Amino acid sequence: MAVTDHVDLNGFMEGVKKRNPYQPEFVQAVQEVAEDIFDFMQDKEEYHSQQILRRIAEPDRVVSFRVCWEDDNGNIRVQRGWRVQNNNAIGPYKGGIRFHPSVTESVLKFLAFEQTFKNALTGLPMGGGKGGSNFNPKGKSVREIMRFCQSFMTELYRHIGADIDVPAGDIGVGGREIGFMFGQYKRITNNFTGVLTGKGLEWGGSLIRTEATGYGAVYFLANMLATKGEDLTGKTAVISGSGNVATHAAEKIVQLGGKVLTLSDSGGFIHDPDGINQEKIDWVKTHKTHRRGRIEEYVEAFPGATFHAGKTPWGVPCDVALPCATQNELLGEDAKMLVANGCRAVSEGANMPTDLDGVHTFKHHKILYAPGKASNAGGVAVSGLEMSQNSERRSWKEEELQQMLKDIMSGIHNSCIKYGDQGGGYIDYVKGANIAGFKKVADAMLAFGVV
Ligand code: NDP
Repeated sequence: MAVTDHVDLNGFMEGVKKRNPYQPEFVQAVQEVAEDIFDFMQDKEEYHSQQILRRIAEPDRVVSFRVCWEDDNGNIRVQRGWRVQNNNAIGPYKGGIRFHPSVTESVLKFLAFEQTFKNALTGLPMGGGKGGSNFNPKGKSVREIMRFCQSFMTELYRHIGADIDVPAGDIGVGGREIGFMFGQYKRITNNFTGVLTGKGLEWGGSLIRTEATGYGAVYFLANMLATKGEDLTGKTAVISGSGNVATHAAEKIVQLGGKVLTLSDSGGFIHDPDGINQEKIDWVKTHKTHRRGRIEEYVEAFPGATFHAGKTPWGVPCDVALPCATQNELLGEDAKMLVANGCRAVSEGANMPTDLDGVHTFKHHKILYAPGKASNAGGVAVSGLEMSQNSERRSWKEEELQQMLKDIMSGIHNSCIKYGDQGGGYIDYVKGANIAGFKKVADAMLAFGVV
Protein backbone atom coordinates (compact mmCIF):
# COMPACT_ATOMS: atom_id res chain seq x y z
CA MET A 1 0.00 0.00 0.00
CA ALA A 2 1.35 3.45 -0.94
CA VAL A 3 2.20 5.66 2.02
CA THR A 4 -0.35 8.27 1.00
CA ASP A 5 -3.34 5.93 0.57
CA HIS A 6 -4.77 6.67 3.98
CA VAL A 7 -4.03 10.41 4.00
CA ASP A 8 -7.04 12.70 3.62
CA LEU A 9 -7.14 16.50 3.28
CA ASN A 10 -6.89 17.05 7.04
CA GLY A 11 -4.00 14.65 7.39
CA PHE A 12 -2.21 16.27 4.47
CA MET A 13 -2.70 19.77 5.93
CA GLU A 14 -1.50 18.63 9.36
CA GLY A 15 1.75 17.59 7.68
CA VAL A 16 2.04 20.91 5.84
CA LYS A 17 1.52 22.84 9.11
CA LYS A 18 4.06 20.69 10.94
CA ARG A 19 6.72 21.08 8.26
CA ASN A 20 6.15 24.84 7.89
CA PRO A 21 5.80 26.28 11.39
CA TYR A 22 5.28 30.05 11.63
CA GLN A 23 4.43 30.25 7.93
CA PRO A 24 0.68 31.08 8.00
CA GLU A 25 0.49 32.62 4.52
CA PHE A 26 2.11 29.56 2.94
CA VAL A 27 -0.17 27.16 4.83
CA GLN A 28 -3.22 29.23 3.81
CA ALA A 29 -2.25 29.13 0.11
CA VAL A 30 -1.67 25.35 0.20
CA GLN A 31 -4.97 24.78 2.02
CA GLU A 32 -6.92 26.76 -0.58
CA VAL A 33 -5.48 24.64 -3.38
CA ALA A 34 -5.58 21.31 -1.51
CA GLU A 35 -9.32 21.68 -0.79
CA ASP A 36 -10.00 21.40 -4.51
CA ILE A 37 -7.20 19.07 -5.51
CA PHE A 38 -8.05 16.32 -3.02
CA ASP A 39 -11.51 16.15 -4.49
CA PHE A 40 -10.13 16.04 -8.04
CA MET A 41 -7.49 13.39 -7.20
CA GLN A 42 -9.91 11.00 -5.55
CA ASP A 43 -10.02 8.57 -8.48
CA LYS A 44 -6.54 9.37 -9.82
CA GLU A 45 -4.24 6.93 -8.10
CA GLU A 46 -1.07 8.03 -9.89
CA TYR A 47 -1.17 11.57 -8.48
CA HIS A 48 -1.54 10.07 -5.01
CA SER A 49 1.12 7.41 -5.27
CA GLN A 50 3.60 9.81 -6.84
CA GLN A 51 2.90 12.35 -4.05
CA ILE A 52 2.48 15.11 -6.62
CA LEU A 53 0.73 17.71 -4.43
CA ARG A 54 3.17 17.10 -1.60
CA ARG A 55 6.03 17.66 -4.05
CA ILE A 56 4.54 20.88 -5.49
CA ALA A 57 4.06 22.16 -1.94
CA GLU A 58 7.76 21.67 -1.19
CA PRO A 59 9.81 24.34 -3.01
CA ASP A 60 12.63 23.03 -5.22
CA ARG A 61 14.84 25.39 -3.20
CA VAL A 62 14.74 28.51 -1.05
CA VAL A 63 17.80 30.74 -1.22
CA SER A 64 18.18 33.21 1.64
CA PHE A 65 20.95 35.80 1.71
CA ARG A 66 22.29 38.90 3.41
CA VAL A 67 22.00 42.24 1.62
CA CYS A 68 24.26 45.00 2.97
CA TRP A 69 24.07 48.56 1.71
CA GLU A 70 25.08 52.02 2.80
CA ASP A 71 22.48 54.76 3.35
CA ASP A 72 22.97 58.43 2.49
CA ASN A 73 24.32 59.16 5.95
CA GLY A 74 27.02 56.52 5.66
CA ASN A 75 25.29 54.02 7.97
CA ILE A 76 25.64 50.33 7.13
CA ARG A 77 22.23 48.69 6.76
CA VAL A 78 21.55 44.94 6.66
CA GLN A 79 18.49 43.36 5.04
CA ARG A 80 17.51 39.81 4.18
CA GLY A 81 16.90 38.71 0.61
CA TRP A 82 15.30 35.53 -0.74
CA ARG A 83 14.57 33.70 -3.94
CA VAL A 84 12.05 30.86 -3.72
CA GLN A 85 12.25 28.51 -6.72
CA ASN A 86 9.09 26.51 -6.27
CA ASN A 87 8.72 24.35 -9.35
CA ASN A 88 10.21 24.27 -12.88
CA ALA A 89 8.34 21.29 -14.32
CA ILE A 90 6.98 23.25 -17.29
CA GLY A 91 9.61 25.97 -17.78
CA PRO A 92 12.20 28.21 -16.10
CA TYR A 93 11.17 29.62 -12.71
CA LYS A 94 9.30 32.88 -13.19
CA GLY A 95 7.81 35.33 -10.69
CA GLY A 96 8.27 38.80 -9.28
CA ILE A 97 10.51 40.42 -6.69
CA ARG A 98 8.84 42.23 -3.79
CA PHE A 99 10.47 44.91 -1.59
CA HIS A 100 8.29 45.56 1.45
CA PRO A 101 8.87 45.40 5.21
CA SER A 102 6.19 42.68 5.50
CA VAL A 103 8.17 40.26 3.30
CA THR A 104 9.05 36.98 5.02
CA GLU A 105 9.96 33.50 3.82
CA SER A 106 6.32 32.50 4.38
CA VAL A 107 5.00 35.30 2.16
CA LEU A 108 7.44 34.45 -0.64
CA LYS A 109 6.75 30.72 -0.38
CA PHE A 110 3.01 31.34 -0.70
CA LEU A 111 3.58 33.62 -3.68
CA ALA A 112 5.91 31.13 -5.41
CA PHE A 113 3.42 28.30 -4.82
CA GLU A 114 0.54 30.35 -6.29
CA GLN A 115 2.74 31.45 -9.16
CA THR A 116 3.32 27.82 -10.16
CA PHE A 117 -0.40 27.33 -10.89
CA LYS A 118 -0.87 30.79 -12.36
CA ASN A 119 1.96 30.38 -14.83
CA ALA A 120 0.61 27.00 -15.89
CA LEU A 121 -2.79 28.58 -16.53
CA THR A 122 -1.33 31.09 -19.01
CA GLY A 123 -0.43 28.22 -21.34
CA LEU A 124 3.13 29.55 -21.59
CA PRO A 125 6.20 27.49 -20.61
CA MET A 126 6.99 29.06 -17.22
CA GLY A 127 7.62 27.49 -13.81
CA GLY A 128 6.88 29.23 -10.51
CA GLY A 129 9.17 31.35 -8.34
CA LYS A 130 9.17 34.51 -6.26
CA GLY A 131 11.72 36.63 -4.46
CA GLY A 132 12.21 39.77 -2.50
CA SER A 133 13.44 41.46 0.61
CA ASN A 134 12.18 43.08 3.80
CA PHE A 135 13.75 46.32 2.52
CA ASN A 136 11.31 49.26 2.78
CA PRO A 137 11.68 51.57 -0.23
CA LYS A 138 9.40 54.20 1.34
CA GLY A 139 11.29 57.33 2.34
CA LYS A 140 14.52 56.16 0.69
CA SER A 141 16.37 58.36 -1.81
CA VAL A 142 16.84 57.16 -5.39
CA ARG A 143 20.56 56.63 -4.73
CA GLU A 144 19.75 54.48 -1.69
CA ILE A 145 17.34 52.39 -3.73
CA MET A 146 19.98 52.01 -6.44
CA ARG A 147 22.61 50.88 -3.96
CA PHE A 148 20.18 48.41 -2.41
CA CYS A 149 19.17 46.97 -5.80
CA GLN A 150 22.82 46.58 -6.79
CA SER A 151 23.68 44.79 -3.57
CA PHE A 152 20.61 42.54 -3.88
CA MET A 153 21.59 41.55 -7.44
CA THR A 154 25.22 40.97 -6.46
CA GLU A 155 23.99 37.82 -4.71
CA LEU A 156 20.88 37.02 -6.76
CA TYR A 157 22.74 36.85 -10.10
CA ARG A 158 24.19 33.42 -9.20
CA HIS A 159 20.76 31.86 -9.00
CA ILE A 160 19.01 33.27 -12.09
CA GLY A 161 19.36 33.15 -15.87
CA ALA A 162 17.25 33.41 -19.04
CA ASP A 163 16.74 29.61 -19.06
CA ILE A 164 16.92 29.14 -15.28
CA ASP A 165 14.89 31.74 -13.42
CA VAL A 166 13.54 35.05 -14.73
CA PRO A 167 12.33 37.48 -12.02
CA ALA A 168 10.07 40.50 -12.61
CA GLY A 169 8.63 43.34 -10.48
CA ASP A 170 6.00 43.20 -7.73
CA ILE A 171 5.12 45.44 -4.75
CA GLY A 172 7.87 48.04 -4.35
CA VAL A 173 9.67 46.95 -7.52
CA GLY A 174 8.78 48.83 -10.71
CA GLY A 175 10.63 49.78 -13.89
CA ARG A 176 13.22 51.85 -12.08
CA GLU A 177 14.25 49.03 -9.71
CA ILE A 178 14.29 46.51 -12.58
CA GLY A 179 16.65 48.92 -14.37
CA PHE A 180 19.03 49.10 -11.41
CA MET A 181 19.02 45.31 -11.04
CA PHE A 182 19.44 44.62 -14.76
CA GLY A 183 22.33 47.11 -14.90
CA GLN A 184 24.10 45.30 -12.09
CA TYR A 185 23.43 41.84 -13.58
CA LYS A 186 24.87 42.97 -16.90
CA ARG A 187 27.88 44.51 -15.21
CA ILE A 188 28.72 41.37 -13.23
CA THR A 189 28.09 38.80 -15.96
CA ASN A 190 28.90 40.84 -19.09
CA ASN A 191 25.80 39.22 -20.51
CA PHE A 192 22.89 41.08 -22.15
CA THR A 193 20.14 38.54 -21.85
CA GLY A 194 16.44 38.38 -20.97
CA VAL A 195 17.13 37.58 -17.33
CA LEU A 196 14.50 39.98 -15.95
CA THR A 197 11.14 41.10 -17.32
CA GLY A 198 9.45 44.46 -16.91
CA LYS A 199 12.46 46.04 -18.60
CA GLY A 200 12.41 49.48 -20.25
CA LEU A 201 11.36 49.56 -23.90
CA GLU A 202 14.80 50.76 -25.00
CA TRP A 203 16.57 47.76 -23.45
CA GLY A 204 14.52 44.68 -24.18
CA GLY A 205 11.19 45.44 -22.52
CA SER A 206 7.78 44.66 -23.98
CA LEU A 207 4.93 47.01 -24.76
CA ILE A 208 1.90 46.70 -22.44
CA ARG A 209 3.82 44.82 -19.70
CA THR A 210 3.15 47.70 -17.28
CA GLU A 211 -0.58 47.70 -17.96
CA ALA A 212 -1.03 43.93 -18.36
CA THR A 213 -1.94 42.79 -14.83
CA GLY A 214 -4.62 45.43 -14.23
CA TYR A 215 -6.00 45.24 -17.77
CA GLY A 216 -6.00 41.44 -17.64
CA ALA A 217 -7.94 41.40 -14.36
CA VAL A 218 -10.64 43.54 -16.00
CA TYR A 219 -10.70 41.38 -19.17
CA PHE A 220 -11.24 38.39 -16.89
CA LEU A 221 -14.03 40.25 -15.09
CA ALA A 222 -15.66 41.08 -18.43
CA ASN A 223 -15.44 37.39 -19.41
CA MET A 224 -17.18 36.40 -16.17
CA LEU A 225 -19.94 39.00 -16.62
CA ALA A 226 -20.45 37.82 -20.21
CA THR A 227 -21.47 34.37 -18.91
CA LYS A 228 -24.48 36.19 -17.40
CA GLY A 229 -25.10 38.24 -20.53
CA GLU A 230 -23.74 41.39 -18.88
CA ASP A 231 -20.89 43.84 -19.49
CA LEU A 232 -19.20 46.65 -17.56
CA THR A 233 -21.19 49.54 -19.01
CA GLY A 234 -22.61 51.63 -16.17
CA LYS A 235 -21.31 49.28 -13.46
CA THR A 236 -19.81 50.75 -10.27
CA ALA A 237 -16.44 49.37 -9.17
CA VAL A 238 -14.66 49.40 -5.84
CA ILE A 239 -10.88 48.99 -6.15
CA SER A 240 -8.22 48.75 -3.44
CA GLY A 241 -4.58 49.78 -3.88
CA SER A 242 -3.21 52.66 -5.93
CA GLY A 243 -0.11 51.07 -7.43
CA ASN A 244 0.56 49.46 -10.77
CA VAL A 245 -2.24 46.89 -10.71
CA ALA A 246 -4.94 49.13 -9.16
CA THR A 247 -4.42 52.13 -11.45
CA HIS A 248 -4.41 50.03 -14.62
CA ALA A 249 -7.46 48.07 -13.51
CA ALA A 250 -9.21 51.40 -12.90
CA GLU A 251 -8.14 52.64 -16.34
CA LYS A 252 -9.57 49.60 -18.13
CA ILE A 253 -12.84 49.74 -16.13
CA VAL A 254 -13.27 53.37 -17.25
CA GLN A 255 -12.41 52.48 -20.87
CA LEU A 256 -15.09 49.77 -20.83
CA GLY A 257 -17.76 52.17 -19.53
CA GLY A 258 -17.68 51.46 -15.79
CA LYS A 259 -17.43 53.92 -12.91
CA VAL A 260 -14.59 53.57 -10.37
CA LEU A 261 -15.52 54.76 -6.86
CA THR A 262 -12.48 54.02 -4.69
CA LEU A 263 -8.71 53.56 -4.52
CA SER A 264 -6.57 53.02 -1.42
CA ASP A 265 -3.13 52.61 0.08
CA SER A 266 -1.80 51.40 3.41
CA GLY A 267 -3.07 54.65 5.01
CA GLY A 268 -6.76 54.27 4.06
CA PHE A 269 -9.09 54.68 1.08
CA ILE A 270 -10.59 57.53 -0.94
CA HIS A 271 -14.22 57.47 -2.06
CA ASP A 272 -15.08 59.62 -5.06
CA PRO A 273 -18.84 59.39 -5.80
CA ASP A 274 -18.36 61.36 -9.06
CA GLY A 275 -16.14 58.56 -10.36
CA ILE A 276 -12.37 58.35 -10.77
CA ASN A 277 -11.97 59.20 -14.46
CA GLN A 278 -8.84 59.00 -16.65
CA GLU A 279 -7.63 62.47 -15.63
CA LYS A 280 -7.86 61.51 -11.96
CA ILE A 281 -6.20 58.14 -12.58
CA ASP A 282 -3.31 59.94 -14.31
CA TRP A 283 -3.03 62.20 -11.27
CA VAL A 284 -2.84 59.13 -8.97
CA LYS A 285 -0.20 57.48 -11.16
CA THR A 286 2.01 60.56 -11.09
CA HIS A 287 1.37 61.28 -7.44
CA LYS A 288 1.90 57.73 -6.14
CA THR A 289 4.50 56.32 -8.51
CA HIS A 290 6.66 59.29 -9.40
CA ARG A 291 6.24 61.50 -6.34
CA ARG A 292 5.83 58.66 -3.82
CA GLY A 293 2.83 60.54 -2.32
CA ARG A 294 -0.08 59.28 -0.22
CA ILE A 295 -3.59 58.58 -1.51
CA GLU A 296 -5.13 60.84 1.17
CA GLU A 297 -3.82 63.88 -0.79
CA TYR A 298 -6.33 62.98 -3.54
CA VAL A 299 -9.11 64.80 -1.63
CA GLU A 300 -7.16 68.07 -1.80
CA ALA A 301 -6.84 67.74 -5.59
CA PHE A 302 -10.45 66.52 -6.04
CA PRO A 303 -12.60 67.97 -3.25
CA GLY A 304 -15.73 65.92 -4.15
CA ALA A 305 -13.98 62.89 -2.61
CA THR A 306 -13.58 61.78 1.00
CA PHE A 307 -10.66 60.02 2.72
CA HIS A 308 -11.23 57.23 5.26
CA ALA A 309 -8.10 56.74 7.35
CA GLY A 310 -7.09 53.21 8.31
CA LYS A 311 -10.05 51.63 6.48
CA THR A 312 -10.49 49.34 3.48
CA PRO A 313 -13.10 50.20 0.82
CA TRP A 314 -15.29 47.06 0.98
CA GLY A 315 -18.21 48.82 2.74
CA VAL A 316 -18.89 51.04 -0.29
CA PRO A 317 -21.83 49.57 -2.26
CA CYS A 318 -20.79 48.48 -5.77
CA ASP A 319 -21.56 46.11 -8.64
CA VAL A 320 -18.01 44.76 -8.93
CA ALA A 321 -14.93 44.72 -6.67
CA LEU A 322 -11.22 44.40 -7.49
CA PRO A 323 -8.83 43.92 -4.57
CA CYS A 324 -5.50 45.08 -6.02
CA ALA A 325 -3.26 45.91 -3.01
CA THR A 326 -1.93 42.93 -1.05
CA GLN A 327 -2.63 39.54 0.58
CA ASN A 328 -5.42 39.11 3.16
CA GLU A 329 -6.83 42.61 2.65
CA LEU A 330 -10.41 41.33 2.21
CA LEU A 331 -11.64 39.35 5.20
CA GLY A 332 -14.71 37.18 5.81
CA GLU A 333 -16.82 40.06 7.15
CA ASP A 334 -15.79 42.27 4.21
CA ALA A 335 -16.94 39.55 1.81
CA LYS A 336 -20.30 39.33 3.62
CA MET A 337 -20.68 43.12 3.41
CA LEU A 338 -19.91 43.16 -0.31
CA VAL A 339 -22.46 40.43 -1.00
CA ALA A 340 -25.09 42.10 1.24
CA ASN A 341 -24.57 45.39 -0.63
CA GLY A 342 -25.24 43.73 -3.98
CA CYS A 343 -21.74 43.12 -5.33
CA ARG A 344 -22.07 40.56 -8.13
CA ALA A 345 -18.48 39.95 -9.21
CA VAL A 346 -15.01 40.02 -7.66
CA SER A 347 -11.83 39.84 -9.74
CA GLU A 348 -8.59 39.69 -7.76
CA GLY A 349 -5.74 41.85 -9.07
CA ALA A 350 -3.58 41.15 -6.02
CA ASN A 351 -2.30 37.73 -4.91
CA MET A 352 -4.49 36.00 -2.28
CA PRO A 353 -6.17 39.28 -1.20
CA THR A 354 -9.18 37.36 0.13
CA ASP A 355 -8.72 35.26 3.26
CA LEU A 356 -10.12 31.71 3.46
CA ASP A 357 -13.30 32.90 5.20
CA GLY A 358 -13.90 35.40 2.43
CA VAL A 359 -13.30 32.76 -0.26
CA HIS A 360 -15.83 30.47 1.41
CA THR A 361 -18.35 33.34 1.64
CA PHE A 362 -18.08 34.16 -2.07
CA LYS A 363 -18.38 30.47 -2.96
CA HIS A 364 -21.34 29.99 -0.63
CA HIS A 365 -23.23 32.88 -2.24
CA LYS A 366 -22.19 31.68 -5.71
CA ILE A 367 -21.18 35.12 -6.93
CA LEU A 368 -18.76 35.49 -9.84
CA TYR A 369 -15.43 35.25 -8.01
CA ALA A 370 -12.03 34.97 -9.71
CA PRO A 371 -8.95 34.08 -7.65
CA GLY A 372 -5.77 36.02 -8.39
CA LYS A 373 -4.00 33.03 -9.86
CA ALA A 374 -6.50 33.21 -12.75
CA SER A 375 -7.47 36.88 -12.97
CA ASN A 376 -4.10 38.55 -12.38
CA ALA A 377 -2.14 36.24 -14.68
CA GLY A 378 -2.04 38.89 -17.43
CA GLY A 379 1.15 40.40 -16.01
CA VAL A 380 3.18 37.22 -16.02
CA ALA A 381 1.66 36.28 -19.38
CA VAL A 382 3.07 39.43 -20.98
CA SER A 383 6.32 38.77 -19.11
CA GLY A 384 6.33 35.39 -20.88
CA LEU A 385 5.81 37.22 -24.16
CA GLU A 386 8.70 39.54 -23.23
CA MET A 387 10.90 36.44 -22.80
CA SER A 388 9.88 35.20 -26.24
CA GLN A 389 10.64 38.59 -27.81
CA ASN A 390 14.05 38.65 -26.07
CA SER A 391 14.87 35.16 -27.40
CA GLU A 392 13.87 36.20 -30.89
CA ARG A 393 15.63 39.58 -30.52
CA ARG A 394 12.59 41.47 -31.77
CA SER A 395 9.66 43.52 -30.47
CA TRP A 396 6.05 42.82 -31.26
CA LYS A 397 3.56 45.60 -31.98
CA GLU A 398 1.17 46.91 -29.34
CA GLU A 399 -1.97 45.68 -31.15
CA GLU A 400 -0.50 42.18 -31.46
CA LEU A 401 0.29 42.10 -27.74
CA GLN A 402 -3.11 43.52 -26.72
CA GLN A 403 -4.81 40.77 -28.70
CA MET A 404 -2.51 38.09 -27.23
CA LEU A 405 -3.29 39.34 -23.70
CA LYS A 406 -7.04 39.23 -24.37
CA ASP A 407 -6.74 35.74 -25.88
CA ILE A 408 -4.68 34.45 -22.94
CA MET A 409 -7.21 35.83 -20.41
CA SER A 410 -10.07 34.20 -22.37
CA GLY A 411 -8.10 30.96 -22.48
CA ILE A 412 -7.68 31.01 -18.70
CA HIS A 413 -11.39 31.75 -18.33
CA ASN A 414 -12.21 28.75 -20.52
CA SER A 415 -9.90 26.49 -18.46
CA CYS A 416 -11.71 27.61 -15.30
CA ILE A 417 -15.06 26.73 -16.87
CA LYS A 418 -13.73 23.34 -18.00
CA TYR A 419 -12.86 22.24 -14.47
CA GLY A 420 -15.09 24.55 -12.40
CA ASP A 421 -18.55 24.30 -13.99
CA GLN A 422 -20.80 23.13 -11.16
CA GLY A 423 -24.02 23.08 -13.24
CA GLY A 424 -27.05 25.29 -12.74
CA GLY A 425 -25.17 28.27 -14.16
CA TYR A 426 -22.57 28.36 -11.36
CA ILE A 427 -18.86 28.31 -12.14
CA ASP A 428 -16.48 27.75 -9.24
CA TYR A 429 -13.51 29.70 -10.63
CA VAL A 430 -11.31 28.83 -7.67
CA LYS A 431 -11.76 25.13 -8.25
CA GLY A 432 -11.42 25.51 -12.01
CA ALA A 433 -8.15 27.47 -11.72
CA ASN A 434 -6.68 25.15 -9.11
CA ILE A 435 -7.42 21.98 -11.05
CA ALA A 436 -6.41 23.30 -14.49
CA GLY A 437 -3.12 24.68 -13.12
CA PHE A 438 -2.40 21.58 -11.06
CA LYS A 439 -3.10 19.12 -13.86
CA LYS A 440 -0.62 20.69 -16.26
CA VAL A 441 2.21 20.79 -13.72
CA ALA A 442 1.33 17.36 -12.29
CA ASP A 443 1.35 15.64 -15.68
CA ALA A 444 4.76 17.09 -16.49
CA MET A 445 6.06 15.87 -13.13
CA LEU A 446 4.73 12.38 -13.78
CA ALA A 447 6.67 12.31 -17.05
CA PHE A 448 9.94 13.10 -15.23
CA GLY A 449 9.70 10.28 -12.70
CA VAL A 450 10.85 10.73 -9.15
CA VAL A 451 13.13 13.79 -9.21
P1 NDP B 1 2.64 48.46 -6.11
O1 NDP B 1 3.82 48.53 -5.22
O2 NDP B 1 2.65 49.19 -7.40
O3 NDP B 1 1.32 48.93 -5.30
C1 NDP B 1 0.92 48.29 -4.13
C2 NDP B 1 -0.30 49.01 -3.59
O4 NDP B 1 -0.84 48.23 -2.51
C3 NDP B 1 0.01 50.38 -3.01
O5 NDP B 1 -1.11 51.19 -3.17
C4 NDP B 1 0.27 50.05 -1.54
O6 NDP B 1 0.07 51.13 -0.67
C5 NDP B 1 -0.77 48.98 -1.31
N1 NDP B 1 -0.35 48.12 -0.20
C6 NDP B 1 0.80 47.40 -0.12
N2 NDP B 1 0.86 46.75 1.05
C7 NDP B 1 -0.27 47.08 1.70
C8 NDP B 1 -0.80 46.74 2.98
N3 NDP B 1 -0.15 45.90 3.79
N4 NDP B 1 -2.02 47.26 3.32
C9 NDP B 1 -2.69 48.10 2.48
N5 NDP B 1 -2.22 48.46 1.27
C10 NDP B 1 -1.04 47.95 0.90
O7 NDP B 1 2.37 46.89 -6.34
P2 NDP B 1 1.54 46.19 -7.50
O8 NDP B 1 0.39 47.03 -7.89
O9 NDP B 1 2.50 45.73 -8.52
O10 NDP B 1 1.01 44.87 -6.74
C11 NDP B 1 -0.23 44.82 -6.04
C12 NDP B 1 -0.65 43.37 -5.87
O11 NDP B 1 -0.79 42.76 -7.17
C13 NDP B 1 0.30 42.47 -5.09
O12 NDP B 1 -0.44 41.49 -4.40
C14 NDP B 1 1.10 41.79 -6.20
O13 NDP B 1 1.67 40.57 -5.78
C15 NDP B 1 0.00 41.57 -7.21
N6 NDP B 1 0.46 41.34 -8.57
C16 NDP B 1 1.23 42.27 -9.22
C17 NDP B 1 1.63 42.03 -10.51
C18 NDP B 1 2.36 43.06 -11.32
O14 NDP B 1 2.49 42.86 -12.53
N7 NDP B 1 2.81 44.17 -10.74
C19 NDP B 1 1.33 40.75 -11.19
C20 NDP B 1 0.43 39.89 -10.46
C21 NDP B 1 0.05 40.18 -9.19
P3 NDP B 1 1.33 51.95 -0.07
O15 NDP B 1 1.75 52.87 -1.17
O16 NDP B 1 0.79 52.63 1.12
O17 NDP B 1 2.36 50.93 0.27
